[in-house]
Amino acid sequence: MRILVVDDSRMARMVLCQQLEGLGHQTAFAASGEEALARCRDESFDVALVDFRVGAMEGVEVCWHLRAAQGAKHLYLMLMIPGSITNQFFEVVENGADEFLRKPLDLVWLRARLLAASRVVEMQRQLERLATTDSLTGALNRGRFMTRAAGEAAQAQRSGRPLSAIMLDIDHFKKINDTHGHATGDEAIRSVVRVCRTLVRGADILGRLGGEEFAILLPDTPLQGAALLAERLRAALAATQVRLPGGGAVTFTVSIGVSALRPEEEAVSALLARADEALYRAKNGGRNRVVCDEATT
Ligand code: GH3
Ligand code: MG
Ligand code: MG
Repeated sequence: MRILVVDDSRMARMVLCQQLEGLGHQTAFAASGEEALARCRDESFDVALVDFRVGAMEGVEVCWHLRAAQGAKHLYLMLMIPGSITNQFFEVVENGADEFLRKPLDLVWLRARLLAASRVVEMQRQLERLATTDSLTGALNRGRFMTRAAGEAAQAQRSGRPLSAIMLDIDHFKKINDTHGHATGDEAIRSVVRVCRTLVRGADILGRLGGEEFAILLPDTPLQGAALLAERLRAALAATQVRLPGGGAVTFTVSIGVSALRPEEEAVSALLARADEALYRAKNGGRNRVVCDEATT
């Protein structure tokens, strides 16, 4: 797990980080509550191990702030409390800690509690995966795609960097389902994501918006670049064979609409709507083609 150690004592931090790394975890540290908050904003951690007192702050206060600031990200909070304190257990958990550890730390106990924490962290990851990805293809689902897209558009507006969108829809998909069955239709949908993944960059965001409709958001990419990729996708998908259960294979084509964010455009919905209109024109123009949004300057 990725563990943040929050302790104002340099020696204590070093010893604990070393022990945690010895147990196979990755560690980072913060020397104050403020630093811990800043690090959690910028990076993601699975667990924070917070000392009972961190500089001027009580450890419970640090936990409370970390809990309040975490938003949708889950962080498992463990507070270290001196063995002499025997009456604040409830308060500690009430203030946001998931677990407390007695000091001085017993390494076996620490290892056991981290194992328990790792189960919660893993369950949290699974929940997150289920809530944000499409189970058929592993692509982002519509909800998460839209959230990510809104974030990318806001960032592009702030930085003035280009952002493009691709909308892709399988042509005459109903016919594939009707002729070869739903399972083959599903396989065609999976193959779209497989092929897209081989051609897009790591920073690109791929989502399945619905049945056989997909969107890709391309940060730092102007319209021409997006159009080139769209054409490569179109050609690669037209050459993709979907195996039939009884032997043989079928092919299919896709229509694609492309648009780029305009500087004055505030919302990502306008960008996607223009890609969608371009897709509509690609369908009307005979399918198996890429159409770029004319309104993009
Ligand atoms: P067009 O070329 O105009 O896009 O025609 P089309 O037949 O591809 O378009 P339409 O949107 O009318 O049909 C989509 C079909 O996709 C209808 C629905 O039954 C099917 N579908 C939706 N989700 C799934 C899925 O997860 N798996 C399979 N196999 N089919 C699906
Ligand atoms: Mg279709
Ligand atoms: Mg469709």
